[in-house]
Amino acid sequence: MRVVCPHCLSVNNIPKKESYKKANCGKCKKSLLDTNPIELTDSNFDEVVVNSDIPVIVDFWAPWCGPCKMFGPVFEKSSKNYPLKALYVKVNTENEQNLGARFGIRSIPTLMIFKNSKEAHRISGALDESSLNNLVSQFT
Ligand SMILES: [Zn+2]
Repeated sequence: MRVVCPHCLSVNNIPKKESYKKANCGKCKKSLLDTNPIELTDSNFDEVVVNSDIPVIVDFWAPWCGPCKMFGPVFEKSSKNYPLKALYVKVNTENEQNLGARFGIRSIPTLMIFKNSKEAHRISGALDESSLNNLVSQFT
C-alpha cells in the first residue's frame, strides 16, 4: 500500500500489515511510525490525499481560533495511536484560503476524513480525545 512520509512527503510503498515494528522512509530514512500531524498547503494537499492508501484525517484550523488551539494537542496525541493506519494532517485556513473555500469550511475547527481520495466524513467543532479516536477507528 502507498503511504506518504510524514517527514518529507515522499510516497512509500509498504506491505500492508496488522502492526509494524519498524518502517522507514525510503527517501529521508526517518521512521514512518513517527506520526506527527503535518501541515499541508494548497500546493501539496491533493498529492498527499491521492497518494495515501490509508485514511487522511484533516484538521482545518486557524491560529486565532481558541477551540482550535485546544484541539491541536488532542489531534496530535490521537495521531500516535494510528501509525501507518491513518495520516494526520493540518490545514491552516488563514494561510490556505483556497482549500477552505474549496471544501466549504464555514466554521473551525472542522475535521474531514478522506478515504480512497474521497471525503468520507466531516464534523465541525472540537472533539475530545476518545471521541476522535472512536471516529478515526471507524475508518481504519
Ligand atoms: Zn521521508
